[in-house]
Amino acid sequence: MAKILCVLYDDPADGYPSSYPRDDLPRIERYPDGQTLPTPSAIDFKPGQLLGSVTGELGLRRFLESAGHQFVVTSDKDGPNSVFERELVDADVVISQPFWPAYLTAGRIAKAKNLKLAITAGIGSDHVDLQAATARGITVAEVTFSNSISVSEHVVMMILSLVRNYLPSWEVVKAGGWDIADCVERSYDVEGMHVGTVAAGRIGTAVLRRLKPFDVHLHYYDRHRLPLEVERELGVTWHDSVEDMIAVCDAVTINAPLHAETENLFDEKMIGKMKRGAYLVNTARGKIVNRDAVVAALESGQLAGYAGDVWFPQPAPRDHPWRTMPHHGMTPHISGTSLSAQARYAAGTREILECFLDGRAIRDEYLIVEGGRLAGAGAHSYSEGDTTHGSEEAARFSAREAVPAK
Ligand code: NDP
Repeated sequence: MAKILCVLYDDPADGYPSSYPRDDLPRIERYPDGQTLPTPSAIDFKPGQLLGSVTGELGLRRFLESAGHQFVVTSDKDGPNSVFERELVDADVVISQPFWPAYLTAGRIAKAKNLKLAITAGIGSDHVDLQAATARGITVAEVTFSNSISVSEHVVMMILSLVRNYLPSWEVVKAGGWDIADCVERSYDVEGMHVGTVAAGRIGTAVLRRLKPFDVHLHYYDRHRLPLEVERELGVTWHDSVEDMIAVCDAVTINAPLHAETENLFDEKMIGKMKRGAYLVNTARGKIVNRDAVVAALESGQLAGYAGDVWFPQPAPRDHPWRTMPHHGMTPHISGTSLSAQARYAAGTREILECFLDGRAIRDEYLIVEGGRLAGAGAHSYSEGDTTHGSEEAARFSAREAVPAK
């Protein structure tokens, strides 16, 4: 029998919901590239329920316990005295969501003698030291495509919101004002702008598709070029380097995974090569941009706005400068954990567990590391290395000090 250790974010401050604003979710048959949605043998939840928090348990408890497995769920993930670190020592499987990542550093992997499988309930496995997982023969798998479209919607929302100066204008209304000039002195149209994506994978391509009707000029940089017919259909220009692309863009969105090649990619020098007054939207990973360089660029006017939902570490300390920097539209890491996305990645997590527990192969497209090497989607999109260093700072966040959202 296996021990499955699952790290999820806390329930809402006023308790696990007893009702929801909507009664159902739209039915989606397939992902845009034809990939099938998750295919577990069954699900024990109603799509649309909150599954990503501790009471939601990704809908896995009945399935696991009825088969005799031990299932431990906690949100206490940071620091040497955390429940996660204590329970990890004899866990066979760890499940974690990127929104509230259980950092699996080399030190923690060394303590986890039984660990065979690390599942990312979502997409992006940079919270696992992939180098150490590779060396130990641990399989790392994620639910590829489960929330890619969710994120692409968030990216479009954030580009529009920055360019049109939405959030400051909303603040004016909430404060009882009608200060139109204050709202519009930083407000523009997106129409006619040059917008570029760093990476045109599942999210990047979906962002391009969604932006096309806005009559913008589209650009991308990726290590692999899109098929020519897709480039033509979208009217998108490929650049052979990030530098070449950002020099012509009014808005740039980052949609690459975090790995050795992309860590700190947007440092002071790179941001300095962007057009003055450009907007930068990063929903990929916090560490792809340099924290202090972003703050400095907003203060100097080199960037007109920055938005995204990814930070490092997560949760971000209360005094993280991105909370208070000017002209930002940051949210906590939420874009990939809408209730719609949760239904897909909870089902995908169960599919991966069923395969693992039955000794069946996990879908190739879900694999990041297997058999001591990068595999499947990981072999395509990642490079070797470790991006977890510095993650111990997450222990500085105190939930008690946090301001509730409502
Ligand atoms: P995909 O694997 O479909 O796309 C990733 C793309 O990044 C690939 O096209 C890959 O290129 C490209 N890439 C990798 N390295 C580089 C590089 N050095 N320079 C430029 N491009 C590069 O994944 P998704 O689009 O679904 O997700 C992308 C990332 O977004 C995830 O890894 C995750 O970090 C983040 N994400 C964030 C979420 C959120 O809630 N905010 C939710 C989901 C994902 P190629 O393979 O062609 O070389």
